[in-house]
Amino acid sequence: MGRYDVIIIGAGPGGIFAAYELSQKAPELKVAVFEAGNPLEKRRCPIDGKKVKSCINCKTCAIMSGFGGAGAFSDGKYNITNDFGGTLYEYIGKEAALDLMHYVDEINVRYGGEETKMYSTAGTKFKKLCMQNKLKLLDASVRHLGTDINYVVLENMFKELKDKVEFRFNCHVDKIELAGGRAEDGYKITTKDGAVECDKCIVSVGRSGSKWMEEVCESLDIPTKSNRVDIGVRVEIPAVIFSHLTDELYESKIVYRTEKFEDKVRTFCMNPYGIVVNENTNGIVTVNGHSYEDKEKQTENTNFALLVEKHFSEPFKDSNEYGESIARLSNMLGGGVLVQRFGDLIRGRRSTAKRIEEGFVRPTLSAEPGDLSLVLPKRILDGIIEMVYALDKIAPGTANDDTLLYGVEVKFYNMEVKLDEHLETKHKGLYVIGDGSGVTHSLSHASASGVYVAREITG
Ligand SMILES: Cc1cc2nc3c(=O)[nH]c(=O)nc-3n(C[C@H](O)[C@H](O)[C@H](O)COP(=O)(O)OP(=O)(O)OC[C@H]3O[C@@H](n4cnc5c(N)ncnc54)[C@H](O)[C@@H]3O)c2cc1C
Repeated sequence: MGRYDVIIIGAGPGGIFAAYELSQKAPELKVAVFEAGNPLEKRRCPIDGKKVKSCINCKTCAIMSGFGGAGAFSDGKYNITNDFGGTLYEYIGKEAALDLMHYVDEINVRYGGEETKMYSTAGTKFKKLCMQNKLKLLDASVRHLGTDINYVVLENMFKELKDKVEFRFNCHVDKIELAGGRAEDGYKITTKDGAVECDKCIVSVGRSGSKWMEEVCESLDIPTKSNRVDIGVRVEIPAVIFSHLTDELYESKIVYRTEKFEDKVRTFCMNPYGIVVNENTNGIVTVNGHSYEDKEKQTENTNFALLVEKHFSEPFKDSNEYGESIARLSNMLGGGVLVQRFGDLIRGRRSTAKRIEEGFVRPTLSAEPGDLSLVLPKRILDGIIEMVYALDKIAPGTANDDTLLYGVEVKFYNMEVKLDEHLETKHKGLYVIGDGSGVTHSLSHASASGVYVAREITG
């Protein structure tokens, strides 16, 4: 049986940055990365809108899996902040978390992002404007790589790593066991090709590996908890309505507390001049957004999500299933994502192709015109409507009749794995990082957690 010093499971940002840091700090270590998906250049989603119109449930999803993980085709917004994107700071401290995120940023810049821009909320006049309108603008600096440059950075990172670290693609890890029944003897990692052992194991399986992660925690008796899901819509408006904000801040994370229920609603994943896209999670089609640095690919619209936070209390445990059920409902009504004009929603009628055609906002995603009030629970819908009106005060035009709402957008959260301040489980040498740990929910936090654990290992 082969033996490694460190095995990393998952080649998303968490796994890549752990591998990078190990290769820099301890090149003598024998390190392997096991990834369920394909190398970057082989990641192709078969949905082309013509021959293949909907998900055919590939063995591994090219959008979520493979080198680069879920982040590979993302908008590549690396937010440097402790205000959102994860709770890494609770484990390692606020300053250390920010330092690591800056370090990740330096590497992204070095490997292809040098021409990209860093935006910041520091000293912005919009903080006051938001406060005056019952909104809170969260603090952050954000490097926007864009989907195109993000890809280039990943290509360059792979070139850097491929001769220093062993990559095994199409290699789903089925089982992690304590070798010899004791953590002191390391870990036995089983895949379809057989078993190998390692002294230390870093698990970085992201959102797509969440169900598998639950099984691992159960089999190794590692405590977990889970109780949150965010549900909402993606808003699409003419870019000019939000341009005063997006030109200065690129992405503004704005939070609102609803008057009716005191629920938190927030903007999420803002894509100036971007496109709205379908996202497939376990065969359920939800909505997301992209934007490009390349001006040629930009559109006249800006899109962002409005999400309502939903925390559940005992006895309900399966918050993600709740989110999936709502998404399934929209898929049932529309065969995929639904789109509705804000004016139609307020008037209590479905949108039709004709009404959308006559509107002033040209949709960037072909979705089924429908009625979101038949899909979203009242409390969530009320929160979204309140927030649209609140945003209208800082960006007049947001609540126009022709504003498009696509639904549903769901932000799933992984269960939280019980970890100590080293991001180590109760088993010595078994670390869990990135979104799969429930500690992070973003590119920069996931990447930073990878660097952190690599440094923990190399001392
Ligand atoms: C469309 C989209 C856009 C996004 N945009 C942004 C953005 O702009 N900014 C931002 O901060 N975040 C964004 N995110 C979120 C971001 O991509 C994630 O937070 C980040 O990728 C998490 O990194 P990770 O390494 O923890 O996990 P992932 O990136 O999910 O990587 C996990 C990897 O592990 C592999 N894996 C899973 N199980 C196994 C197993 N058993 N054996 C072997 N391999 C396994 C998977 O195939 C996957 O490649 C976006 C996400 C999506 C889907």
